[in-house]
Amino acid sequence: MAGRISRREALKLFGAGAVACGAGICATSAASADARHWHEAMYYDKLGNKKIRCRVCPKECVVGDRERGFCGCKENHDGTYHTLVYGQCAALNIDPIEKKPLFHYLPGTSAYSIAAAGCNFDCKDCQNWEISQTRPEQLKDTLDLPPQQVAAQAKRYKVRSIAYTYSEPVVFYEYMFDSAKAGRQAGIKSIMISNGSIRPEPMERLLPHLDAIKIDLKSISPDFYRDYCVGDVTPVLDTIKLVKSKRKWLEIVYLVVPTLNDDPVEVRDMCQWLMDNVGPDVPLHFSRFHPAYQLKKLPPTPYDTLERCADIARDVGLNYVYLGNVPGDEHATTRCTGCDKTLIRRNGFAVVEMNLANGGCKSCSTKVPGVWS
Ligand code: SF4
Ligand code: SF4
Repeated sequence: MAGRISRREALKLFGAGAVACGAGICATSAASADARHWHEAMYYDKLGNKKIRCRVCPKECVVGDRERGFCGCKENHDGTYHTLVYGQCAALNIDPIEKKPLFHYLPGTSAYSIAAAGCNFDCKDCQNWEISQTRPEQLKDTLDLPPQQVAAQAKRYKVRSIAYTYSEPVVFYEYMFDSAKAGRQAGIKSIMISNGSIRPEPMERLLPHLDAIKIDLKSISPDFYRDYCVGDVTPVLDTIKLVKSKRKWLEIVYLVVPTLNDDPVEVRDMCQWLMDNVGPDVPLHFSRFHPAYQLKKLPPTPYDTLERCADIARDVGLNYVYLGNVPGDEHATTRCTGCDKTLIRRNGFAVVEMNLANGGCKSCSTKVPGVWS
């Protein structure tokens, strides 16, 4: 990307005196990160000479003293690695679960949704770049919300779940982990809305505390991940397989970006990979792209392109294919694979009709994969 300095380069150049934001260098002292939100990181190796290697995500950043990793929300102090955002909530909403989107998980319920600053990707189309590409000390209006309070507030608002969402929860792993544990003790479920770029060991440790996971599969192409996300597809595919093998509820979103990942051959390859590795019953949401962040010059995804993607997915054999960010409810309707009757009809994020009984179709009793109560 011509003319733009990477975050890692900036941190190397300026050390603790400046940090890089998504748009370039931000002259903000790392020392101003609020010490109340420091918490020792759960996964890192000490390398000597006060260097560490972070072991949460596949980037495995090697970080010198007083430096930060790629995500910008973890910092090395004298050879001890810290998250800087433990209990520092950067966004908070009570959302319908359909907004995540999760369509086969407790439909019609709400999720207490939180985020912290940072991400281990830098997607050119990020809709939440103000949070994901910003350092914690640059955010205004953050909220002190430690894990026990997350659980207590979720209970107070009578939601069924806590969602770790908006930015990338992998990089606020410690905050998510303890909130999910506190939520479990309070009888609240936890759902992770993620890019899936996490190492297997921390994911395996986290999974017993989670109840559902939505993963953004951005492309099946390594080139796309490298050029448009500053990431790698292989660990994402590995996480999808891991979640499936542990029998946690999983849904996949594929944001269809015009000209970049909408090639029918590529879409077919992606659908076939899902069929081969997680089976026909994983819900797949094709989501419409809207111009944002560094991809403002591209148009929104044409409706025909989304329909073509859905046709390909059904042709490959996927049973539950949805379109997102499009008007009209037909493409957000769940149909019975046995008798084709409407099982769940949605209008926007609202559930307006439910024809399920005991996890199956009311008409023909065909079982519907998902978590319904
Ligand atoms: S979590 Fe952050 S610091 Fe750790 S490896 Fe990933 S990007 Fe690097
Ligand atoms: S992974 Fe998600 S939050 Fe992170 S940059 Fe990409 S779109 Fe934004």
